[in-house]
Amino acid sequence: MFNNLSEKLDKALHVLKGHGSITEVNVAETLKEVRRALLDADVNFKIAKEFTNRVKEKALGQDVLTSLQPGQLMVKLVKDELTELMGGDAEGINLSGNPSVILMSGLQGSGKTTFSGKLANYLKNKKTKKPLLVACDVYRPAAIDQLHVVGDQLNIDVYSDKGNNDPVAIAQAGIAHAKQNGHNVVIIDTAGRLAVDKAMMDEISNIHKAIQPQETLFVVDSMTGQDAVITAKAFNDILNFDGVILTKLDGDTRGGAAISIKSVVNKPIKFIGTGEKMEAIDVFYPSRMADRILG
Ligand code: GDP
Repeated sequence: MFNNLSEKLDKALHVLKGHGSITEVNVAETLKEVRRALLDADVNFKIAKEFTNRVKEKALGQDVLTSLQPGQLMVKLVKDELTELMGGDAEGINLSGNPSVILMSGLQGSGKTTFSGKLANYLKNKKTKKPLLVACDVYRPAAIDQLHVVGDQLNIDVYSDKGNNDPVAIAQAGIAHAKQNGHNVVIIDTAGRLAVDKAMMDEISNIHKAIQPQETLFVVDSMTGQDAVITAKAFNDILNFDGVILTKLDGDTRGGAAISIKSVVNKPIKFIGTGEKMEAIDVFYPSRMADRILG
């Protein structure tokens, strides 16, 4: 994960680690390299610049130059800032309703259906919940079948209504079905398109208004870099969602989405997807991710 970014940051900070004492020039050069590493990872220019400016301010504020181990202190400052940028403390999912309704949003192919299954399985195993999956993609019959395959595999019930082309009605019927059958969590998988368009936004917005979920999650493919951030903003403007799910972090992703998304939409990344299998789900901990990036 983020191998390229990790290597570049390591190289940038390596120079300082060896120094007993460092100069303002050392700090400036190092931060320039850090900024370059972030840009290479597809972090947006403004975010990368603000990041290094903040680290510089803190470095000056904490008298890095006269500290006993200036190199170590700089590494710590970068790590803290990276943690902060990715979201501070980990946040959970709101499961307060009965049933708790969780709405999935995102583009086609982002990993919504896969993640719906993963989350249902996670909640069933970890929190002893009884989830119901609801298939609201009325355009692609294959998407409904896919959710059924996932449900069968996990032994989790799936509600669908093939032929019904009203996703709001299906979502509402799904919730009613959950109530009648003792499901305390409902996960609603919705239709995405290949790019943001008005029809998709109107549809997800209508579902959102009609069912008023406890939790709205935005699922995004981490491989899409800055596009991921732009898409997140478009969905957040319409849905004011509660959290982000970053998928495909097992791939050769550069890290830009993970690092930038929180500061653009001001919503936490809640989970990450790290593979196609149903077990490949992890709670997102910004500090752990920063540790991982900085080695
Ligand atoms: P949807 O259109 O948003 O419902 O996306 P899908 O759930 O159908 O996922 C699209 C593709 O991405 C499928 O081939 C999934 O197996 C794959 N996929 C989803 N999540 C992950 C992940 O975390 N890692 C990897 N490697 N593949 C994933």
